[in-house]
Amino acid sequence: NQGVGSWAARRARMSPERVAVVHDGREYTYREVAERTARLAHVLAARGIGRGDRVAYLGPNHPTLLEMLLATGVLGAAFVPLNTRLAAPELAYILRDSGAAALIWSPRLAGVVEELKATVPYELSLDGYEAALSTVEPEPLDLPVAPDETCMLMYTSGTTGRPKGVMLTHANVTWNTVNLLVDVDITSTEVTLVSAPMFHVAALNQTVLPTFCKGGTAILVSAFDPDATLELIERHRVTFLFGVPAMFQAIARSPRWAEADLSSVRSAICGGAPVPEPLIATYRQRGVTFMQGYGLTESAPGATFLRAGDSPAKAGSAGTPSFFTDVRLAAPDGGPVAPHEPGEVQIQGPNVMAGYWGQPAETAAALTGDGWLRTGDVAVADDEGYLYIRDRIKDLIISGGENIYPAEVEDVIYQHPAVAECAVIGVPDERWGEVGRAVVVLRAGARLDPAQLLAFLDGKIARYKIPKSVVLAEGLPRTASGKVLKQELRARHQP
Ligand code: AMP
Ligand code: MG
Ligand code: MG
Repeated sequence: NQGVGSWAARRARMSPERVAVVHDGREYTYREVAERTARLAHVLAARGIGRGDRVAYLGPNHPTLLEMLLATGVLGAAFVPLNTRLAAPELAYILRDSGAAALIWSPRLAGVVEELKATVPYELSLDGYEAALSTVEPEPLDLPVAPDETCMLMYTSGTTGRPKGVMLTHANVTWNTVNLLVDVDITSTEVTLVSAPMFHVAALNQTVLPTFCKGGTAILVSAFDPDATLELIERHRVTFLFGVPAMFQAIARSPRWAEADLSSVRSAICGGAPVPEPLIATYRQRGVTFMQGYGLTESAPGATFLRAGDSPAKAGSAGTPSFFTDVRLAAPDGGPVAPHEPGEVQIQGPNVMAGYWGQPAETAAALTGDGWLRTGDVAVADDEGYLYIRDRIKDLIISGGENIYPAEVEDVIYQHPAVAECAVIGVPDERWGEVGRAVVVLRAGARLDPAQLLAFLDGKIARYKIPKSVVLAEGLPRTASGKVLKQELRARHQP
Protein backbone atom coordinates (compact mmCIF):
# COMPACT_ATOMS: atom_id res chain seq x y z
CA ASN A 1 0.00 0.00 0.00
CA GLN A 2 1.64 3.19 -1.24
CA GLY A 3 -1.12 5.43 0.07
CA VAL A 4 -1.98 7.46 3.14
CA GLY A 5 -3.82 4.41 4.51
CA SER A 6 -0.46 2.80 5.23
CA TRP A 7 0.68 5.60 7.52
CA ALA A 8 -0.85 4.18 10.68
CA ALA A 9 0.97 0.86 10.29
CA ARG A 10 4.19 2.65 9.36
CA ARG A 11 3.97 4.89 12.42
CA ALA A 12 3.10 1.96 14.67
CA ARG A 13 6.25 0.26 13.37
CA MET A 14 8.37 3.31 14.16
CA SER A 15 6.87 4.86 17.30
CA PRO A 16 4.13 2.60 18.69
CA GLU A 17 4.07 4.06 22.20
CA ARG A 18 4.03 7.73 21.29
CA VAL A 19 0.72 9.52 21.65
CA ALA A 20 -0.75 10.21 18.21
CA VAL A 21 -4.04 11.82 19.17
CA VAL A 22 -5.63 13.33 22.25
CA HIS A 23 -9.37 13.89 22.32
CA ASP A 24 -11.67 14.70 25.19
CA GLY A 25 -9.00 13.73 27.74
CA ARG A 26 -8.31 10.33 26.13
CA GLU A 27 -4.93 9.54 24.57
CA TYR A 28 -4.48 7.22 21.60
CA THR A 29 -1.00 5.88 20.88
CA TYR A 30 0.16 5.18 17.35
CA ARG A 31 -0.24 1.46 18.06
CA GLU A 32 -3.85 2.02 19.07
CA VAL A 33 -4.61 4.16 16.05
CA ALA A 34 -3.11 1.47 13.81
CA GLU A 35 -5.19 -1.24 15.51
CA ARG A 36 -8.37 0.80 15.41
CA THR A 37 -7.74 1.61 11.76
CA ALA A 38 -7.27 -2.08 10.92
CA ARG A 39 -10.48 -2.95 12.79
CA LEU A 40 -12.43 -0.24 10.98
CA ALA A 41 -11.11 -1.47 7.63
CA HIS A 42 -12.48 -4.93 8.49
CA VAL A 43 -15.84 -3.48 9.54
CA LEU A 44 -16.14 -1.58 6.26
CA ALA A 45 -14.86 -4.51 4.17
CA ALA A 46 -17.53 -6.72 5.77
CA ARG A 47 -20.08 -4.30 4.28
CA GLY A 48 -18.60 -4.89 0.86
CA ILE A 49 -16.70 -1.59 0.82
CA GLY A 50 -13.49 -1.70 -1.17
CA ARG A 51 -11.41 -0.14 -3.86
CA GLY A 52 -12.97 2.90 -5.51
CA ASP A 53 -15.91 3.19 -3.08
CA ARG A 54 -16.70 6.35 -1.09
CA VAL A 55 -17.30 6.58 2.65
CA ALA A 56 -18.59 9.73 4.35
CA TYR A 57 -18.24 11.14 7.87
CA LEU A 58 -20.53 13.72 9.43
CA GLY A 59 -19.43 15.00 12.80
CA PRO A 60 -17.07 17.24 14.73
CA ASN A 61 -13.33 16.72 15.10
CA HIS A 62 -12.88 13.25 16.51
CA PRO A 63 -10.34 10.40 16.26
CA THR A 64 -12.89 8.53 14.12
CA LEU A 65 -12.42 11.06 11.35
CA LEU A 66 -8.71 10.26 11.19
CA GLU A 67 -9.34 6.51 11.52
CA MET A 68 -11.81 6.73 8.63
CA LEU A 69 -9.33 8.52 6.41
CA LEU A 70 -6.73 5.87 7.20
CA ALA A 71 -9.09 2.87 6.94
CA THR A 72 -10.60 3.94 3.62
CA GLY A 73 -6.99 4.40 2.48
CA VAL A 74 -6.23 0.83 3.52
CA LEU A 75 -9.13 -0.40 1.38
CA GLY A 76 -8.45 1.88 -1.58
CA ALA A 77 -11.74 3.67 -0.98
CA ALA A 78 -12.10 7.46 -0.82
CA PHE A 79 -12.94 9.38 2.32
CA VAL A 80 -15.67 12.04 2.10
CA PRO A 81 -15.71 14.40 5.10
CA LEU A 82 -18.94 16.40 5.31
CA ASN A 83 -19.33 19.97 6.53
CA THR A 84 -21.46 19.76 9.68
CA ARG A 85 -22.81 23.26 9.03
CA LEU A 86 -24.60 22.29 5.84
CA ALA A 87 -28.37 21.93 5.73
CA ALA A 88 -29.93 18.49 5.14
CA PRO A 89 -30.69 19.04 1.42
CA GLU A 90 -27.08 20.12 0.82
CA LEU A 91 -25.72 17.05 2.60
CA ALA A 92 -28.12 14.75 0.75
CA TYR A 93 -26.88 16.19 -2.53
CA ILE A 94 -23.26 15.40 -1.63
CA LEU A 95 -24.08 11.87 -0.46
CA ARG A 96 -25.91 11.19 -3.73
CA ASP A 97 -23.33 12.91 -5.93
CA SER A 98 -20.48 10.96 -4.35
CA GLY A 99 -22.51 7.76 -4.29
CA ALA A 100 -21.36 7.19 -0.73
CA ALA A 101 -21.55 3.52 0.29
CA ALA A 102 -21.53 4.36 3.99
CA LEU A 103 -21.99 7.22 6.42
CA ILE A 104 -20.52 7.34 9.90
CA TRP A 105 -22.09 10.08 11.98
CA SER A 106 -22.01 11.75 15.34
CA PRO A 107 -25.15 11.66 17.51
CA ARG A 108 -24.83 15.45 17.70
CA LEU A 109 -26.07 15.48 14.11
CA ALA A 110 -28.87 12.99 14.75
CA GLY A 111 -31.58 15.40 13.62
CA VAL A 112 -30.13 16.02 10.20
CA VAL A 113 -29.03 12.39 9.78
CA GLU A 114 -32.67 11.27 10.04
CA GLU A 115 -33.19 13.03 6.72
CA LEU A 116 -30.10 11.42 5.18
CA LYS A 117 -30.41 7.76 6.10
CA ALA A 118 -32.35 6.91 2.96
CA THR A 119 -29.48 8.15 0.77
CA VAL A 120 -26.84 5.68 2.04
CA PRO A 121 -26.85 1.87 2.11
CA TYR A 122 -25.03 1.67 5.46
CA GLU A 123 -24.88 4.11 8.35
CA LEU A 124 -23.23 3.86 11.73
CA SER A 125 -23.55 6.23 14.67
CA LEU A 126 -20.51 6.98 16.80
CA ASP A 127 -22.63 5.56 19.64
CA GLY A 128 -22.20 2.16 18.05
CA TYR A 129 -18.69 2.69 16.74
CA GLU A 130 -16.67 1.11 19.58
CA ALA A 131 -18.98 -1.89 19.62
CA ALA A 132 -18.56 -2.32 15.87
CA LEU A 133 -14.76 -2.19 16.17
CA SER A 134 -14.81 -4.80 18.92
CA THR A 135 -16.53 -7.36 16.68
CA VAL A 136 -13.39 -7.78 14.53
CA GLU A 137 -9.69 -8.45 15.07
CA PRO A 138 -7.02 -5.77 14.50
CA GLU A 139 -5.43 -7.96 11.83
CA PRO A 140 -3.43 -5.66 9.51
CA LEU A 141 -4.63 -5.60 5.91
CA ASP A 142 -2.16 -4.92 3.14
CA LEU A 143 -3.97 -4.34 -0.12
CA PRO A 144 -2.51 -2.78 -3.25
CA VAL A 145 -3.26 0.94 -3.38
CA ALA A 146 -1.43 3.17 -5.85
CA PRO A 147 -0.44 6.81 -5.29
CA ASP A 148 -2.71 8.07 -8.07
CA GLU A 149 -5.89 6.61 -6.59
CA THR A 150 -8.33 8.96 -4.89
CA CYS A 151 -7.75 9.35 -1.17
CA MET A 152 -10.24 12.11 -0.33
CA LEU A 153 -13.25 13.56 -2.01
CA MET A 154 -13.56 17.07 -0.59
CA TYR A 155 -16.69 18.96 -1.54
CA THR A 156 -16.35 22.61 -2.39
CA SER A 157 -18.88 24.86 -4.02
CA GLY A 158 -18.32 26.70 -7.22
CA THR A 159 -19.52 29.58 -9.30
CA THR A 160 -22.06 27.28 -10.90
CA GLY A 161 -23.79 26.72 -7.58
CA ARG A 162 -23.66 22.95 -7.14
CA PRO A 163 -20.85 21.64 -4.92
CA LYS A 164 -18.16 19.62 -6.64
CA GLY A 165 -16.06 16.80 -5.21
CA VAL A 166 -12.38 17.64 -5.41
CA MET A 167 -10.49 14.38 -5.99
CA LEU A 168 -7.28 14.44 -3.97
CA THR A 169 -5.10 11.43 -4.61
CA HIS A 170 -2.76 9.73 -2.16
CA ALA A 171 0.09 11.39 -4.04
CA ASN A 172 -1.55 14.83 -3.70
CA VAL A 173 -1.96 14.41 0.03
CA THR A 174 1.52 12.95 0.50
CA TRP A 175 3.22 15.76 -1.42
CA ASN A 176 1.23 18.36 0.44
CA THR A 177 2.49 16.78 3.66
CA VAL A 178 6.07 16.85 2.42
CA ASN A 179 5.68 20.50 1.39
CA LEU A 180 4.45 21.31 4.86
CA LEU A 181 7.25 19.44 6.58
CA VAL A 182 9.71 21.52 4.55
CA ASP A 183 7.86 24.82 4.99
CA VAL A 184 7.06 24.61 8.67
CA ASP A 185 9.70 22.22 10.04
CA ILE A 186 7.24 19.95 11.87
CA THR A 187 9.08 17.71 14.34
CA SER A 188 8.42 14.43 16.14
CA THR A 189 7.87 16.38 19.36
CA GLU A 190 5.21 18.61 17.81
CA VAL A 191 2.07 19.18 19.88
CA THR A 192 -0.51 20.36 17.39
CA LEU A 193 -3.80 21.94 18.35
CA VAL A 194 -6.56 21.12 15.90
CA SER A 195 -9.59 23.27 16.57
CA ALA A 196 -10.44 24.22 12.99
CA PRO A 197 -12.91 21.71 11.50
CA MET A 198 -11.19 18.65 10.07
CA PHE A 199 -13.88 18.31 7.40
CA HIS A 200 -12.02 21.16 5.69
CA VAL A 201 -8.83 20.33 3.92
CA ALA A 202 -6.63 22.79 5.83
CA ALA A 203 -7.08 21.39 9.35
CA LEU A 204 -6.72 17.83 8.13
CA ASN A 205 -3.87 18.24 5.65
CA GLN A 206 -1.92 21.18 7.11
CA THR A 207 -1.97 20.07 10.73
CA VAL A 208 -3.17 16.53 11.48
CA LEU A 209 -1.41 14.64 8.69
CA PRO A 210 2.02 16.32 8.87
CA THR A 211 1.99 15.83 12.65
CA PHE A 212 0.97 12.20 12.20
CA CYS A 213 3.60 11.56 9.54
CA LYS A 214 6.34 12.88 11.84
CA GLY A 215 5.07 11.08 14.94
CA GLY A 216 3.97 14.12 16.90
CA THR A 217 0.77 14.54 18.92
CA ALA A 218 -2.44 16.12 17.64
CA ILE A 219 -4.92 17.52 20.17
CA LEU A 220 -8.34 17.27 18.52
CA VAL A 221 -10.90 19.81 19.71
CA SER A 222 -14.53 19.23 18.79
CA ALA A 223 -15.69 22.83 18.96
CA PHE A 224 -13.60 25.95 18.67
CA ASP A 225 -13.77 28.29 21.63
CA PRO A 226 -11.31 31.19 22.00
CA ASP A 227 -10.92 31.03 25.81
CA ALA A 228 -10.62 27.25 25.79
CA THR A 229 -8.01 27.48 23.04
CA LEU A 230 -5.72 29.55 25.26
CA GLU A 231 -6.31 27.16 28.14
CA LEU A 232 -5.47 24.15 25.93
CA ILE A 233 -2.31 25.83 24.64
CA GLU A 234 -1.08 26.18 28.22
CA ARG A 235 -2.22 22.76 29.43
CA HIS A 236 -0.72 20.78 26.53
CA ARG A 237 2.22 23.12 25.85
CA VAL A 238 1.00 23.39 22.26
CA THR A 239 3.74 24.08 19.72
CA PHE A 240 1.80 24.39 16.48
CA LEU A 241 -1.67 25.44 15.42
CA PHE A 242 -3.66 26.47 12.38
CA GLY A 243 -6.65 28.77 12.10
CA VAL A 244 -8.53 31.06 9.78
CA PRO A 245 -8.21 34.79 10.50
CA ALA A 246 -11.58 34.97 12.32
CA MET A 247 -10.35 32.33 14.80
CA PHE A 248 -7.06 34.07 15.56
CA GLN A 249 -8.94 37.34 15.91
CA ALA A 250 -11.35 35.82 18.42
CA ILE A 251 -8.46 34.32 20.43
CA ALA A 252 -6.72 37.69 20.62
CA ARG A 253 -9.96 39.24 21.95
CA SER A 254 -10.38 36.67 24.70
CA PRO A 255 -10.24 38.06 28.25
CA ARG A 256 -7.48 35.48 28.91
CA TRP A 257 -5.30 36.77 26.07
CA ALA A 258 -3.22 39.30 28.04
CA GLU A 259 -1.94 36.83 30.63
CA ALA A 260 -1.97 33.67 28.53
CA ASP A 261 1.33 31.80 28.34
CA LEU A 262 2.08 31.38 24.63
CA SER A 263 5.76 30.55 25.13
CA SER A 264 5.34 26.95 23.90
CA VAL A 265 3.92 28.00 20.51
CA ARG A 266 6.60 27.62 17.87
CA SER A 267 4.45 28.33 14.86
CA ALA A 268 0.95 29.34 13.95
CA ILE A 269 -0.42 29.19 10.42
CA CYS A 270 -3.19 31.55 9.43
CA GLY A 271 -4.91 31.17 6.09
CA GLY A 272 -8.05 30.33 4.18
CA ALA A 273 -9.03 33.97 3.81
CA PRO A 274 -7.22 37.33 3.57
CA VAL A 275 -5.11 37.86 6.69
CA PRO A 276 -5.38 41.42 8.09
CA GLU A 277 -1.97 42.96 8.83
CA PRO A 278 -2.87 44.17 12.35
CA LEU A 279 -3.63 40.55 13.23
CA ILE A 280 -0.14 39.51 12.20
CA ALA A 281 1.34 42.29 14.34
CA THR A 282 -0.79 41.28 17.35
CA TYR A 283 0.65 37.75 17.33
CA ARG A 284 4.20 38.72 16.47
CA GLN A 285 4.20 41.16 19.41
CA ARG A 286 3.48 38.15 21.62
CA GLY A 287 6.49 36.34 20.17
CA VAL A 288 4.45 33.89 18.09
CA THR A 289 5.86 32.95 14.69
CA PHE A 290 2.77 33.78 12.75
CA MET A 291 2.85 32.45 9.21
CA GLN A 292 0.47 33.21 6.41
CA GLY A 293 -0.54 30.32 4.18
CA TYR A 294 -2.39 30.56 0.91
CA GLY A 295 -4.02 27.70 -0.90
CA LEU A 296 -7.25 26.05 -1.88
CA THR A 297 -8.97 22.70 -1.64
CA GLU A 298 -7.95 21.95 -5.22
CA SER A 299 -4.25 22.14 -4.28
CA ALA A 300 -4.62 19.91 -1.21
CA PRO A 301 -4.41 22.88 -0.09
CA GLY A 302 -0.94 24.43 0.39
CA ALA A 303 0.40 26.59 -2.42
CA THR A 304 2.41 29.42 -0.86
CA PHE A 305 3.77 30.23 2.56
CA LEU A 306 5.20 33.19 4.38
CA ARG A 307 7.71 31.25 6.46
CA ALA A 308 9.16 31.76 9.91
CA GLY A 309 12.43 33.17 8.57
CA ASP A 310 10.80 35.71 6.26
CA SER A 311 11.50 39.29 7.17
CA PRO A 312 8.83 41.34 8.95
CA ALA A 313 8.94 43.63 5.92
CA LYS A 314 7.00 40.92 4.08
CA ALA A 315 4.16 40.83 6.61
CA GLY A 316 0.92 40.78 4.66
CA SER A 317 2.41 38.73 1.86
CA ALA A 318 1.23 35.18 1.22
CA GLY A 319 4.91 34.35 0.73
CA THR A 320 6.52 32.15 -1.87
CA PRO A 321 5.55 28.76 -3.31
CA SER A 322 6.01 25.59 -1.32
CA PHE A 323 9.12 23.57 -2.16
CA PHE A 324 7.61 21.12 -4.65
CA THR A 325 4.97 23.51 -5.99
CA ASP A 326 5.16 26.27 -8.58
CA VAL A 327 3.05 29.38 -8.95
CA ARG A 328 2.69 31.75 -11.87
CA LEU A 329 0.62 34.88 -12.47
CA ALA A 330 -1.38 34.89 -15.68
CA ALA A 331 -2.88 37.79 -17.63
CA PRO A 332 -6.52 37.49 -18.77
CA ASP A 333 -5.29 36.16 -22.17
CA GLY A 334 -3.37 33.43 -20.34
CA GLY A 335 0.06 34.95 -21.02
CA PRO A 336 2.53 36.14 -18.41
CA VAL A 337 2.06 39.47 -16.61
CA ALA A 338 4.60 42.31 -16.57
CA PRO A 339 6.54 42.78 -13.28
CA HIS A 340 4.38 44.26 -10.49
CA GLU A 341 1.22 43.77 -12.54
CA PRO A 342 -1.66 41.78 -11.05
CA GLY A 343 -2.45 38.40 -12.54
CA GLU A 344 -4.45 35.28 -11.80
CA VAL A 345 -2.62 32.90 -9.49
CA GLN A 346 -2.06 29.54 -11.19
CA ILE A 347 -0.60 26.54 -9.40
CA GLN A 348 1.26 23.50 -10.64
CA GLY A 349 2.72 20.63 -8.68
CA PRO A 350 2.20 17.14 -7.31
CA ASN A 351 -0.37 18.50 -4.84
CA VAL A 352 -2.78 19.73 -7.54
CA MET A 353 -6.01 17.69 -7.66
CA ALA A 354 -6.75 14.98 -10.17
CA GLY A 355 -10.02 16.76 -11.03
CA TYR A 356 -13.65 17.10 -9.97
CA TRP A 357 -15.58 13.89 -9.36
CA GLY A 358 -17.75 13.11 -12.37
CA GLN A 359 -17.34 16.61 -13.83
CA PRO A 360 -14.96 16.49 -16.81
CA ALA A 361 -16.11 19.88 -18.14
CA GLU A 362 -15.55 21.59 -14.78
CA THR A 363 -12.18 19.86 -14.49
CA ALA A 364 -11.15 21.07 -17.94
CA ALA A 365 -12.18 24.60 -17.00
CA ALA A 366 -10.14 24.52 -13.79
CA LEU A 367 -6.93 23.07 -15.23
CA THR A 368 -5.11 24.68 -18.16
CA GLY A 369 -3.98 22.57 -21.11
CA ASP A 370 -0.46 22.53 -19.71
CA GLY A 371 -1.58 21.38 -16.28
CA TRP A 372 -1.85 24.55 -14.17
CA LEU A 373 -4.70 25.08 -11.73
CA ARG A 374 -6.64 28.30 -12.28
CA THR A 375 -7.41 29.66 -8.82
CA GLY A 376 -9.63 32.66 -9.58
CA ASP A 377 -7.46 34.64 -7.14
CA VAL A 378 -5.50 37.70 -8.20
CA ALA A 379 -2.06 38.56 -6.84
CA VAL A 380 0.95 40.72 -7.51
CA ALA A 381 4.55 39.62 -6.93
CA ASP A 382 7.34 41.82 -5.59
CA ASP A 383 10.93 41.80 -6.89
CA GLU A 384 11.80 38.78 -4.78
CA GLY A 385 8.78 36.79 -5.92
CA TYR A 386 6.68 37.27 -2.76
CA LEU A 387 3.01 37.14 -3.58
CA TYR A 388 0.38 39.54 -2.33
CA ILE A 389 -3.17 38.27 -2.81
CA ARG A 390 -5.17 41.29 -3.92
CA ASP A 391 -8.51 40.26 -5.31
CA ARG A 392 -10.76 37.45 -6.49
CA ILE A 393 -12.09 37.09 -10.00
CA LYS A 394 -14.34 34.22 -8.96
CA ASP A 395 -17.62 35.20 -7.37
CA LEU A 396 -16.84 34.03 -3.84
CA ILE A 397 -17.48 35.39 -0.36
CA ILE A 398 -15.38 34.07 2.55
CA SER A 399 -17.10 34.54 5.88
CA GLY A 400 -15.27 33.36 8.97
CA GLY A 401 -13.29 30.92 6.83
CA GLU A 402 -16.38 29.34 5.25
CA ASN A 403 -16.86 29.83 1.53
CA ILE A 404 -20.15 31.19 0.22
CA TYR A 405 -20.79 31.03 -3.48
CA PRO A 406 -23.41 33.68 -4.31
CA ALA A 407 -24.89 31.57 -7.13
CA GLU A 408 -25.86 28.88 -4.63
CA VAL A 409 -27.63 31.39 -2.38
CA GLU A 410 -29.26 33.25 -5.27
CA ASP A 411 -30.71 29.97 -6.60
CA VAL A 412 -32.57 29.49 -3.33
CA ILE A 413 -33.70 33.13 -3.02
CA TYR A 414 -35.22 32.84 -6.50
CA GLN A 415 -37.49 30.09 -5.18
CA HIS A 416 -39.37 32.74 -3.20
CA PRO A 417 -42.49 33.79 -5.14
CA ALA A 418 -42.10 37.50 -4.32
CA VAL A 419 -38.60 37.72 -5.80
CA ALA A 420 -38.16 39.01 -9.35
CA GLU A 421 -34.39 39.50 -9.32
CA CYS A 422 -31.63 39.04 -6.80
CA ALA A 423 -27.89 39.12 -6.34
CA VAL A 424 -25.73 38.29 -3.33
CA ILE A 425 -22.60 40.30 -2.63
CA GLY A 426 -19.97 40.29 0.09
CA VAL A 427 -19.62 43.27 2.40
CA PRO A 428 -16.69 43.80 4.78
CA ASP A 429 -17.25 42.68 8.35
CA GLU A 430 -14.97 43.23 11.33
CA ARG A 431 -15.58 39.84 12.87
CA TRP A 432 -16.10 37.52 9.89
CA GLY A 433 -13.98 39.26 7.25
CA GLU A 434 -16.95 39.39 4.91
CA VAL A 435 -20.65 38.65 5.24
CA GLY A 436 -23.29 38.16 2.56
CA ARG A 437 -25.85 40.78 1.63
CA ALA A 438 -28.79 40.03 -0.65
CA VAL A 439 -29.97 42.72 -3.01
CA VAL A 440 -33.52 41.86 -4.04
CA VAL A 441 -35.93 43.28 -6.57
CA LEU A 442 -39.55 42.33 -5.85
CA ARG A 443 -42.19 41.38 -8.37
CA ALA A 444 -44.63 44.16 -9.19
CA GLY A 445 -47.13 44.50 -6.33
CA ALA A 446 -45.33 41.91 -4.16
CA ARG A 447 -44.38 42.59 -0.56
CA LEU A 448 -41.66 40.92 1.41
CA ASP A 449 -39.88 41.97 4.52
CA PRO A 450 -36.24 40.92 4.94
CA ALA A 451 -36.97 38.77 8.01
CA GLN A 452 -39.48 36.72 5.98
CA LEU A 453 -36.93 36.09 3.26
CA LEU A 454 -34.28 35.01 5.78
CA ALA A 455 -36.75 32.67 7.46
CA PHE A 456 -37.54 31.22 4.03
CA LEU A 457 -33.85 30.36 3.51
CA ASP A 458 -33.49 28.68 6.91
CA GLY A 459 -33.09 24.91 6.54
CA LYS A 460 -32.56 25.10 2.77
CA ILE A 461 -28.94 26.21 2.95
CA ALA A 462 -26.32 26.30 5.70
CA ARG A 463 -26.81 29.12 8.24
CA TYR A 464 -23.48 30.73 7.37
CA LYS A 465 -24.63 31.10 3.76
CA ILE A 466 -27.79 33.00 4.72
CA PRO A 467 -27.19 36.70 4.03
CA LYS A 468 -26.78 38.87 7.10
CA SER A 469 -28.80 41.66 5.49
CA VAL A 470 -31.32 42.16 2.73
CA VAL A 471 -31.62 45.34 0.70
CA LEU A 472 -34.63 45.96 -1.52
CA ALA A 473 -33.75 47.67 -4.79
CA GLU A 474 -35.58 48.96 -7.85
CA GLY A 475 -33.34 47.07 -10.24
CA LEU A 476 -29.92 45.46 -10.63
CA PRO A 477 -27.12 46.94 -12.72
CA ARG A 478 -26.51 44.62 -15.67
CA THR A 479 -24.27 44.33 -18.68
CA ALA A 480 -25.77 44.50 -22.16
CA SER A 481 -25.89 40.70 -22.15
CA GLY A 482 -27.82 40.73 -18.86
CA LYS A 483 -25.06 39.67 -16.47
CA VAL A 484 -25.26 41.37 -13.05
CA LEU A 485 -22.42 43.84 -12.51
CA LYS A 486 -21.35 42.70 -9.05
CA GLN A 487 -18.65 45.31 -8.68
CA GLU A 488 -21.11 48.10 -9.43
CA LEU A 489 -23.61 46.50 -7.07
CA ARG A 490 -21.00 46.35 -4.29
CA ALA A 491 -20.22 50.03 -4.80
CA ARG A 492 -23.93 50.88 -4.49
CA HIS A 493 -24.78 48.65 -1.54
CA GLN A 494 -21.75 48.63 0.75
CA PRO A 495 -22.52 49.66 4.34
P1 AMP B 1 -11.03 26.67 -0.08
O1 AMP B 1 -11.48 26.00 -1.32
O2 AMP B 1 -12.02 26.67 1.02
O3 AMP B 1 -9.72 26.13 0.35
O4 AMP B 1 -10.86 28.23 -0.39
C1 AMP B 1 -9.79 28.69 -1.17
C2 AMP B 1 -9.86 30.18 -1.35
O5 AMP B 1 -9.66 30.87 -0.11
C3 AMP B 1 -8.77 30.68 -2.24
O6 AMP B 1 -9.05 30.51 -3.61
C4 AMP B 1 -8.68 32.15 -1.83
O7 AMP B 1 -9.68 32.91 -2.49
C5 AMP B 1 -8.98 32.09 -0.34
N1 AMP B 1 -7.71 32.13 0.44
C6 AMP B 1 -7.08 31.10 1.01
N2 AMP B 1 -5.97 31.50 1.66
C7 AMP B 1 -5.89 32.85 1.50
C8 AMP B 1 -4.96 33.86 1.92
N3 AMP B 1 -3.89 33.58 2.66
N4 AMP B 1 -5.21 35.14 1.53
C9 AMP B 1 -6.28 35.44 0.78
N5 AMP B 1 -7.20 34.54 0.36
C10 AMP B 1 -7.00 33.25 0.71
MG1 MG C 1 -12.92 26.06 -3.25
MG1 MG D 1 -11.66 27.77 2.95
